[in-house]
Amino acid sequence: MSDCIFCKIAHGDIPASKIYEDDDVIAFNDIRPAAPVHFLLIPKRHIESMLTTSKEDEALLGKMLALTPVLAREQGLAAGYKTAINTGLAGGQEVFHLHLHVLGTPQQ
Ligand code: 5GP
Ligand code: ZN
Repeated sequence: MSDCIFCKIAHGDIPASKIYEDDDVIAFNDIRPAAPVHFLLIPKRHIESMLTTSKEDEALLGKMLALTPVLAREQGLAAGYKTAINTGLAGGQEVFHLHLHVLGTPQQ
């Protein structure tokens, strides 16, 4: 999707504070953090939202969820964190490229 901001981040066309990347996903800090640690985990492939996922996306979605504790620990959130996936206009989604929010405050 040529006009999708997260596709541009995934392809390296616009900068982001990247914390993780592999062939399928990329994670980067949210530009307007709502917590001391707030990063987004997205698939590199353009998927509009959870509402447009299908059975074929199960492995990718499972991988994303399974990555959250790994990345959260690396960001200082070993004691816990929140996740959110805003879905659709009525779900408060603003960027229509699927993304998983991870938020938290590092504990001493
Ligand atoms: P949504 O409401 O769609 O779940 O949240 C979109 C999130 O993307 C917001 O928290 C917003 O701050 C973040 N965001 C929007 N544009 C950019 C950007 O260009 N770079 C980064 N790093 N985050 C962005
Ligand atoms: Zn996209």
